[in-house]
Amino acid sequence: MSIVYGPVPSRRLGRSLGINNIPPKICSYSCVYCQLGRTTRMQIERGAFYDPESMVIAVRERVNRCREKGEGVDYLTFVPDGEPTLDINLGKEINLLRPLGIKVAVITNASLLWREDVRQDLQGADWVSLKVDVVTRKAWRRVNRPQKTLKLEDVLAGMLRFADAFEGELSTETMLIKGFNDDSQEIGRIADFLRELKPDKAYLAIPIRPPAEKTVGAPGEEAVNTAYQSFKERLADVEYLIGYEGDAFASTGDAKDDLLSITAVHPMREGAVVKLLSKAGANWQAVQELIDEGSLVRLEYQGERFYMRRLPTPATRRVSPVSTKRPGQTPAPSDR
Ligand code: SF4
Repeated sequence: MSIVYGPVPSRRLGRSLGINNIPPKICSYSCVYCQLGRTTRMQIERGAFYDPESMVIAVRERVNRCREKGEGVDYLTFVPDGEPTLDINLGKEINLLRPLGIKVAVITNASLLWREDVRQDLQGADWVSLKVDVVTRKAWRRVNRPQKTLKLEDVLAGMLRFADAFEGELSTETMLIKGFNDDSQEIGRIADFLRELKPDKAYLAIPIRPPAEKTVGAPGEEAVNTAYQSFKERLADVEYLIGYEGDAFASTGDAKDDLLSITAVHPMREGAVVKLLSKAGANWQAVQELIDEGSLVRLEYQGERFYMRRLPTPATRRVSPVSTKRPGQTPAPSDR
């Protein structure tokens, strides 16, 4: 089994070379939406899974091959088939990767951040994403289904301690699941916690690939927009990950394309849409056409009108190249 895969294009990380430092599927959680299926080995003890030196050799070889072909790698990303911080050698591996001169990212469920050694290991990374799906015990047990000795209070406190000391770029990811954590009260509590955590950027995601449990579904546009607005009231930078390869920063000059790419990462107020249209020399007809063809949705929130790209339906959802892992293997949900 290859420990290294990619690079794959990632909206968050550019060209990301994946490092699979945990065998399938060892995790401290068994999230209802996990696209790797149910956790087969639930554990919270850290262990050694692969030889760090061999792993670094494999990464170096892949990086060299990319460089020979003139392909860049923006990040070396620990995003395995389980929880990356279960790897007791994570800190050592990050240090051994440093001479390659490429930034290191870790996508973690954050459940072990109450441990000082885990916080210490992650300090060595340049970019860390923490999972914050819920902040109340009952919802946590329903959504993340943690290993039974874990305590939510410790997990949340560990995140705050880590965020306080971390000098790299901190992201969070919140998976919204219909009927599990998409009610306004839970969303408000998550947003309050994130305000305290102060991530550089908070991402809202929806399940876009087959989940571990059949009962899991994505909330509608209304709920996603409400969650976005609730986060935005408390946080500086919020985007959603809804399965489109939107690029909010690249203007094509085509009003329709630009509207779709911007609203694929966050909703737009009507005023902002009007400005964009006038910049592109277009008129409201472009918006109406997108609504009529079902690509754009009009929403109301607290008396204001917003526009959002329609969420992908299961039939049209595709496995984006951003999350494609090794051939034949299901991509990890956080790997987008
Ligand atoms: S989504 Fe991530 S944290 Fe949750 S069970 Fe799957 S691998 Fe573990």
